[in-house]
Amino acid sequence: MSATLLSEGAVVSEALGYGVTVLYIVAFSLFIYGLMGLTGPKTAVRGNWIAAVGMGIAIVATLLGVYNSAGDAGVPAINWVLIVIGLAVGVALGIPPALKTKMTAMPQLVALFNGVGGGTVALIAWAEYIEYHGFTTVPDVPSVHVIVGSLFAAIIGSVSFWGSLVAFAKLQELLNKNLERKLVAAAKGFQLANIVLAIVAIGIAVYIGVKAGAGDGPTPWFWIVGLLIAAGVMGLFVVFPIGGADMPVVISLLNAMTGLSAAAAGLALNNQAMIVAGMIVGASGSILTNLMAKAMNRSIPAIIFGSFGGGDDAAAGGPGAAGGTVKATSAADAAIQMAYANQVIVVPGYGLAVAQAQHAVKEMASLLESKGVEVKYAIHPVAGRMPGHMNVLLAEADVPYDSMKEMDDINGEFQRTDVAIVIGANDVTNPAARNDPSSPIHGMPILNVDQARSTIVLKRSMSSGYAGIENPLFFADGTSMLFGDAKKSVDSVIEELKAL
Ligand code: NDP
Repeated sequence: MSATLLSEGAVVSEALGYGVTVLYIVAFSLFIYGLMGLTGPKTAVRGNWIAAVGMGIAIVATLLGVYNSAGDAGVPAINWVLIVIGLAVGVALGIPPALKTKMTAMPQLVALFNGVGGGTVALIAWAEYIEYHGFTTVPDVPSVHVIVGSLFAAIIGSVSFWGSLVAFAKLQELLNKNLERKLVAAAKGFQLANIVLAIVAIGIAVYIGVKAGAGDGPTPWFWIVGLLIAAGVMGLFVVFPIGGADMPVVISLLNAMTGLSAAAAGLALNNQAMIVAGMIVGASGSILTNLMAKAMNRSIPAIIFGSFGGGDDAAAGGPGAAGGTVKATSAADAAIQMAYANQVIVVPGYGLAVAQAQHAVKEMASLLESKGVEVKYAIHPVAGRMPGHMNVLLAEADVPYDSMKEMDDINGEFQRTDVAIVIGANDVTNPAARNDPSSPIHGMPILNVDQARSTIVLKRSMSSGYAGIENPLFFADGTSMLFGDAKKSVDSVIEELKAL
């Protein structure tokens, strides 16, 4: 009788095991399908929902797996109360900022969420260490994939967590600008420290791994803590001195690292959904990092070990460095110039997102088109504060995709363009990147706005952009400045166009 009961229990447990695997496959299929939706602004929201449903299924599957393994030899008792509290805390911390955060603060939120992912992975690695290696006893000799997976996840997850926190602080402008400039200037000094920290982290990992693999007694807990600290400090030291213009590539790199560390943790936990989801994030993040580094004319090692954008005021061409005369213009003049042009190129930047001027810009473009003017949009790969920022904003206002031109496709056209209208963009139009070898952003490809017959810049003041450097474009002969909030300025231009 008891043998029958046992075998029935075993059958149920096996069926649940298969069920968990099937749910994981459904979950990661939804991740992939959802990701496909993210390739276009029209399907992005649906894609996001599909991936979220996938994540919900993955959580259910994981809980089912935990329930199923309860009572197995060597599996510690499951504390459901703690699991429910963890879920509740996660939901309470995740939903309000996702609902309340303004679009302009999304990059910071993404950096923070990315960091939380990396931190979680590092903690999973720590938990795996405790489970397999204990503080005082050795319950089991872990297999190679557990050792390598959890140690890799611990290092990369910790780098990613601390690095993402610094990225968040920089994007949120929590760091004192003077301190940030000093850190950027001291970038080279961090290189040696980073090499030493990398050697320490890898050295400890090899020591723990070899000892664990040999079943050679427990490794004192301070080794894993030392590993997490060395990797964490490396994350801080790598991101602190990164110059403004390099931040987009670094954020994408951190994202890729979180993905790879999650995949490694999935390997250690034998969790298929984590492996696939981690690899998707790791692979897509790596591709994006490469594309962005290429677009910025930079190599990844140069970004990590150098500084680009920022620096001290003098070297960076801080406010007041370029000097010259600035010509202010009016909405009426801007409207007349554009209404009688053959071609107008709109150059959007971060200020467009701040002002939420995308709908007004679309209305202005439609008015110009109704007057026979050809209107195109020039999209710089790092305009705004996150990859694809400008495309998303303009798509929201129903700007047709074929009018949004990538930098390489549009740059040749500025010379034969009557008016380039720069709306809240700054760094991505800075000709010093092309002309001034002493500029900290020299070599970064920019939109050749200065080559247009006339350039109108819409911004509120003469303040610098994210990289903190002055823009000689604003003092150029062909440039006039329309000062004010971009939305209000474009609205005024619209009124003038209607009156023409
Ligand atoms: P910038 O940050 O260079 O400049 C934005 C400009 O917008 C500012 O000079 C500001 O001037 C103006 N502005 C702000 N608010 C308004 C408003 N309400 N109305 C009108 N103007 C406004 O932006 P760009 O898009 O040119 O360049 C992006 C920068 O951000 C690059 O340095 C890039 O490396 C960096 N970055 C990009 C990321 C990405 O993934 N895309 C991520 C992290 C950083 P004023 O205050 O005078 O109005």
